Amino acid sequence: MDVQLINIGKKYEGRSNYTLRNINLEIKDKDFCVILGPSGCGKSTLLRMIAGLNSITEGDMYFGERRMNTVPPKDRDIAMVFQSYALYPHMSVYDNLAFSLTMKKENPKVINERVLEAANVLQIEEYLHSKPSEISGGQRQRVALGRAMVRKPKVFLMDEPLSNLDAKLREHMRVELVRLHHSLDTTTIYVTHDQTEAMTMATKIILLDDGIIQQDGPPEEFYNQPANLFVATFIGSPTMNLFQGRMSDGVFVSLDGDIHITPSEDDATALAAYEGKEVTVGIRSERFISGGELGDTFRAEIEVVEMLGKEKLLYGKLPKGQSITISVPGHFEYHPGEEHSFGYDIEAIHYFDSSTTNRIV
Ligand code: ADP
Ligand code: MG
Repeated sequence: MDVQLINIGKKYEGRSNYTLRNINLEIKDKDFCVILGPSGCGKSTLLRMIAGLNSITEGDMYFGERRMNTVPPKDRDIAMVFQSYALYPHMSVYDNLAFSLTMKKENPKVINERVLEAANVLQIEEYLHSKPSEISGGQRQRVALGRAMVRKPKVFLMDEPLSNLDAKLREHMRVELVRLHHSLDTTTIYVTHDQTEAMTMATKIILLDDGIIQQDGPPEEFYNQPANLFVATFIGSPTMNLFQGRMSDGVFVSLDGDIHITPSEDDATALAAYEGKEVTVGIRSERFISGGELGDTFRAEIEVVEMLGKEKLLYGKLPKGQSITISVPGHFEYHPGEEHSFGYDIEAIHYFDSSTTNRIV
C-alpha cells in the first residue's frame, strides 16, 4: 500500500515549537522505507502519527486513496514492532503469536495456520511451546515480529526493533528482516538512528534532523550525492573529510593553503558561479589515492594506523595541522611517524556552499 504525507506538521500540546515541519513524502507499495536521524529529531513522533497513536497537527496523510488523519489505529491495517517488545511472560510463544487474532475472535483454524506460517518464515517452530524466558533475545525479537506478521497488515511499522540486541545478532537480524521483506512484500516503515541499518536495509531513506527532512532517496544517493553538509557527515564511517576554502582562478584552495584541487570539467561548470566564494570540500576516506598518477597532491604525516583487516585507516595531519582520515587496502604498508604524498580521485570530490551548507556538485 502506498503511504503519502503532504505538508505534515506536528506540535505537541504545551510545546512552543513544532517537532516536525513540512514533511512531504511518498512511500511506494512494497518499499522498505527507513526514517533515519539523530536521537530526538522526531522519528518516533512521525511513525506514531502514521500509526494513529499521535494526532496530526497539520497536513494530510493518505494510505492509497484514503485520507487517514482521523482514522483510529485499529482501522488502519498496520502492525507495529517496538524496541521494547513486551511478550506476555506467562504465555507460550504460540499463544503470544496467536494473541491478537484470538482477541479479534478470528476463526481458530485461521489462527493456527497463520501462527504456523509465521513461525515457519521466522524459524521459531521448535520454540512454539516454550515460554519467552526460555528463549534467547534474538528469538524473542522474532516472536515480536511474528506477532505483527500474523495480522497480515498492509503496512509494517517498526521503531528501532534491533536496538536492544548485541552487535552480532543485530547484523544477523538485519539480513533476516530484508529476507522477510522480500518474501512478504509488505510496505515497511522502519525507524532507526543507526546509519548502517538504514544503508543496508532501505529501498528508500528519509533523513530527518531537527524535525525537517534533509534528504530522501535510495541509499546510494545519500552516500554519493549528499544534499548538504549534515547528510554528508551523518552518513558514512569514517566521517567524510571536510576542508574549508575558496575558489580561486577555478581551483579550490583550502583556507590554510594545504589543499589544492583542480575540479573535473563537469564540476568546474557548476563551480563557475563560486569564483572567490567560500566553498567546503568533502572527500571520503577511501577516495584518496596513494602511488601512481596523483595529479594535485598534498603531504600528510601519519599519526595513527588502525588495522581493520581488509582496510587500514590512517589518521594523519596536514602541514598546517588539519586532521585527515585516509583509508587504504589492508595489505598496504604504512607506519606512524611517516610522511606521504596523496592525491584525490577527482570524480569523487563533493563541493558544498559554505554559507548555506547545501551541495553545489
Ligand atoms: P526520536 O524518536 O527521533 O528520538 P521523538 O519523536 O521521540 O524523537 O521526539 C522528538 C521531540 O519531541 C523530542 O524533543 C521529544 O522530547 C518531543 N516529544 C516526544 N513525545 C512528546 C510528547 N508526548 N509530548 C511532548 N513532547 C514530546
Ligand atoms: Mg524514537
